[in-house]
Parts: sequence; C-alpha cells; structure tokens
Amino acid sequence: MATISINLKEGDIERPGEVIAGIDLGTTNSLVAYMKDGAPVCVKDEAGKSALLPSVLHFASGDTIIVGEHAREQLIKSPADTIYSVKRLMGKSYQDVRGFEDFFGYKVIDDDTESLVKIRVKDRFYTPVELSAMILKELKERVENRLNQPVTKAVITVPAYFNDNQRQATRDAGKLAGLDVLRIVNEPTAAALAYGIGRPGEQDSHEQETIAVYDLGGGTFDISILQIENGIFEVLSTNGDTFLGGDDFDQAIVNYWLEELSIDKKLLTEEKDFGQEIRLAAESAKKALSSHESYKSAIKGSAVSITRSTFEDLIAPLVQRTLDCCRNALRDAGIGTEKIDKVVMVGGSTRVPVVRSAVAGFFGKPVFDDLDPDEVVALGAAIQADILAGNQQDLLLLDITPLSLGIETIGGLMDVIIPRNSKIPTKAGRQYTTSVDGQKNLKISVFQGERDLVEHNRKLGEFILRGIPPMPAGLPKIDIQFILNADGILTVRARELRSDLAQEIEIRPTYGISEEQMATMLLDSIKNAQSDMTVRGLLEARNEASNLLNSGEKFLKQNDGILSEAEKATTNALLKALHEAAKGDDKDVIHRAIDELNDFTSPLAHRAMDVTIRDAMKGKKV
Ligand code: AMP
Repeated sequence: MATISINLKEGDIERPGEVIAGIDLGTTNSLVAYMKDGAPVCVKDEAGKSALLPSVLHFASGDTIIVGEHAREQLIKSPADTIYSVKRLMGKSYQDVRGFEDFFGYKVIDDDTESLVKIRVKDRFYTPVELSAMILKELKERVENRLNQPVTKAVITVPAYFNDNQRQATRDAGKLAGLDVLRIVNEPTAAALAYGIGRPGEQDSHEQETIAVYDLGGGTFDISILQIENGIFEVLSTNGDTFLGGDDFDQAIVNYWLEELSIDKKLLTEEKDFGQEIRLAAESAKKALSSHESYKSAIKGSAVSITRSTFEDLIAPLVQRTLDCCRNALRDAGIGTEKIDKVVMVGGSTRVPVVRSAVAGFFGKPVFDDLDPDEVVALGAAIQADILAGNQQDLLLLDITPLSLGIETIGGLMDVIIPRNSKIPTKAGRQYTTSVDGQKNLKISVFQGERDLVEHNRKLGEFILRGIPPMPAGLPKIDIQFILNADGILTVRARELRSDLAQEIEIRPTYGISEEQMATMLLDSIKNAQSDMTVRGLLEARNEASNLLNSGEKFLKQNDGILSEAEKATTNALLKALHEAAKGDDKDVIHRAIDELNDFTSPLAHRAMDVTIRDAMKGKKV
C-alpha cells in the first residue's frame, strides 16, 4: 500500500518531488504554506502583508462570492449574507448545533432530523463542505499565483478532536476545491513538526517524547497531549473550550471601558457602529499591550486608556480557565506535568505575554514560542506535505489505505467508513437503521472508491443480515464495523444491537486492482467532484423529503381530531407541494418546500403533543 500521486491534467501517476500545499483551514483564519529551498513558508496576500486569509465568505449581489478580508468587512453590514466560523459546522448534524444557532449571524437550517446542517443564504442552500471548498479554492489560487504553476495536492490540518465525519467533510471540501487531499493531519502534530519535534534527524527522535500543544486562537481554545515515538504521533488526550479565545480578551477590555465611561452595555447592540468601533479599539489595545506597557486612544471623542497590569487582571479568570483545561487533559492522559517534555504554543492569543508566562509556570518549563503562532500549523502542514512528496527520504511512511472503503446507503450513495489514506491497521464503524416498518433483512454492500455514487465505485462484496426482529422503521440499531488489519484484509461485521444478531465477511480490497486503476479512480473522483456533490445533494434532499412526507401523513392521521379543517388543508397542500418538489431535480426547491412544511407544522406538533399529554394525565394525580 502506498500514497497515490496523480497528475490531474494527464492522469499519470507522478513520481515524488513536486509541490504539495500545506493548509491550515481555520475557524477564524486560514493559511497555505509550501516548502521553499528546504524550509516551509506561508504564502502572503497580494499586497504581501498578511498570510492570514479570514475564513469568511460574503455573498454579494448577483452570483459574486467574496472570500477573505473583504468578506470580513461585511460581517457587521450584512450578517445574513456573510458566513463565518463554518468550521464549527463541518460534519455536524442539526442535533449537534442545537442551542448554538444564535452564535451564527446567518441562517443555519434547524430541522428536527439527524441529517447534516445546511446554511441558507439568499434563496440557496449550502453545505459546510461547499463553503469550506470556496475557502480552499482561494488558498489554492494563492499558492498557484505565487508559484506560477498548478498545485493540485494538499495536506489539510484539523483539530485533534475532529471525529470521522468532520475529517471526511474536510476531505470532501478539498476534493470539491480540486485538491487531492493526501492526508488529514492533526493541528497539534503539525505544530510540533514545525518546531522539528518528532522529525527524523532530531537528536532524540527515536526516544519517546510527550508534548503539550496549547492553542489559543480568536474564538477557541484547544490543548492536546501527544506522545511521539519513532516519528509516530499519538494523541493521548484533548481538552479545550470551543467558546474561549482572544475575542473574550477584547470583550473584557470593552466592558472595562464601558464602565470607565459610564456607558450602558445596551448601546453596543443599539448602535452597531459604536459597538464595532469600541471592539476594534479594544483589539488594538490588546495587541499593543503585548509589546507596550500601556495604551491610549479615543472613542466617541472620549479618551480611553488601559495598562498592561489592568489588562492582565481582567483576563486572569480566562487564562485560569485554559489552565483548568490543561489539568483535565493531563488527567485524561493519566500523567502529571513532570512527564511533559515540551510545550508548544499555537494561535494568535499566545502572543499575550501573561498567557505565555502562565503556561510556562503551569508546566514548569519554558515554552516553544519562537515561530509565528498564527503560522505554525500551516508551516507544519507544509513539512508533512514535503514528507509525503518523498522529499525527506529518511522519514518512514506508514502503510495506508489507497482508496476509501464504505457501504451503499439509500439512493445508491456511498457512505465512507474508512477514508482513503487512513493508517493501517485501522477500525471504524457507524450505526444504521431500517427504512421500512417491520424490515427483517438488511443488505450490506461494500464498495471501494472516491465517488459519491456507488455505481461509479468498485464493489468488493455483499451479504445480508437476516432475521432482524420486526420493529418500526428507524428503531433497529445496526452497528457496522470495518476492521482493516495490517495485511490489508478487511473484515466487515454487522450487528443488530437490540437482538445481538450478527454476521460478517472478509475481503481483500487491493486484490485484482493495479496502481494505474487506483490512480484513474482518484482522478475521476476529483474531475467529477462538483457533479457528484450536486447528485449527492439532490439524493439527500429527496431522502429527507420522503421521510418528512411519511411522518407528515402519519401526523395528519393521528391528530385528525386536534387539527382544524384549515390546518389540515394547509398541511395537505404543503405535503403535496413537497411531493411535487421531490420529483424535480433542484435540491434548493426541495429544501424550501421542506422548510415551509416544517415552519407550518412545528407549532401544530407542539400543540398536538400538549393535548396528548393532557389526555394521558387526565384523572391522574402527580
Ligand atoms: P488565531 O485564531 O490563531 O488567528 O488568533 C487570532 C487571535 O489572536 C485574535 O483574537 C487576535 O486579536 C489575537 N492576536 C493577534 N495578534 C495579537 C497580539 N499581538 N497580541 C495579542 N493577541 C493577538
């Protein structure tokens, strides 16, 4: 097994040695880096000023989509058409983001289903994968313009805690941007690589090392404890806070100034310009205080100031919260601070001197902070990319799966269980259920390949899980596990968890397929990424519509006595409209029909539930 490199233009397998981009796809900012004369460098914007591309998209009039700094400028002016923090939504279902809807200034569709989230902008629906692909495309262009040559391969970093769905979503985004994603790398691993930790050639690289990577950005905090041995990085534990970062430092200064100026907090929301002005001034103050002892400015004609020691007092509780997370991470890893050999600092907010000293104090050793904390992850990604390109001969390349492995789900869609380029041996699984009431058998068809529809992939085998006890659709829990051993043999095991019914098969995925055929399959998947995504989107929308039509009809039957004639008529009309929409080929039209039906029936469903509960409780004393 090996990494497959392909030339997108010619379709040839390429020999190692070409440029592979290292990409840090961040929540707030994204960066791209590559190796130049043996050292990693980040690509700066056209003005040559900053390597940071704000991870923000603005949907301007017409079909224009702006990515980056200019999009960020639109955040206040047109929040509904400006998308930020899309990374927080990658691979997430509606259930996962429940309760956080207010955080997003734009519309996150909040259906009551387990399907993946979509974002509504104007009259179109986008998935986080499509939106992330737009950011990746911009980064791809940035590095291509710099090098004056096409760049078609990349390594992309993700947080260590990202699950399979989130990693797969990141891969899909890369593919959609026209990139062959050679590997998904953990951000802390990349940061360590940037400092040369765990690289061959490092003096004690054969010995076991344990490191902590402290990553404090604009809006999130992550701490990861990694163990490194023979160039292999293992994540021992992760911890953090998804809503803690430099933005909170800014807010602490804003609150302090409001109090100093005796201004009511309400003014921040009532007068958006004022809110924006004071927040920007607070951020400038914070940045200045990283290298100066005090800061002075004026807001609305009034002088404001702050000293470094006041600022340090203000943020002390926030810094303490990060240290509490560090303590929890160490506890989960089962070690104390004395076992940590190195501490690496990542993220713009680690420029604050008191953060650095607090972390050094906590771990009892100096921290690694020489590199630009904003760039360190992208730099490490470029090094990992260079290793994969074969330019660092002494590095061991682990055995990996050359093509993704998965099963067929409703509508002929490929559901990837073990993604391409996963290290082997590996094991992954997912739970499925039935789609028909009383369903007794479930056919499990195993496929290999990168396309969204199984008909374009390679079938490896199939079996039928027979004798599922009769249950309503959606109730059985069928756990499917893929176990790929070190010899490349795949065991697919299916088990119905309620009845313990189980069955399995063994397959050798690489049997009878040449490297050339694999390369062609990969090339096809990237060439067809856009059309595959469109078909997948349409099939998923149709599946969602079909589920909703079933439950809508059941709802009408069960609540005949509770609903008024007018309510029944409107529900019927909306069901009919959805039925018609689902026959068409436009996923946005289907989603709009789903939205309209949900908007109308949600209050009815609540009422019906209240009545049912009241009836059930009648005559009963609590
Ligand atoms: P990141 O998400 O890693 O790009 O980090 C961005 C955060 O770092 C923002 O909250 C910035 O305000 C903050 N930041 C950038 N430069 C400095 C600095 N010199 N001092 C303190 N914070 C900074």
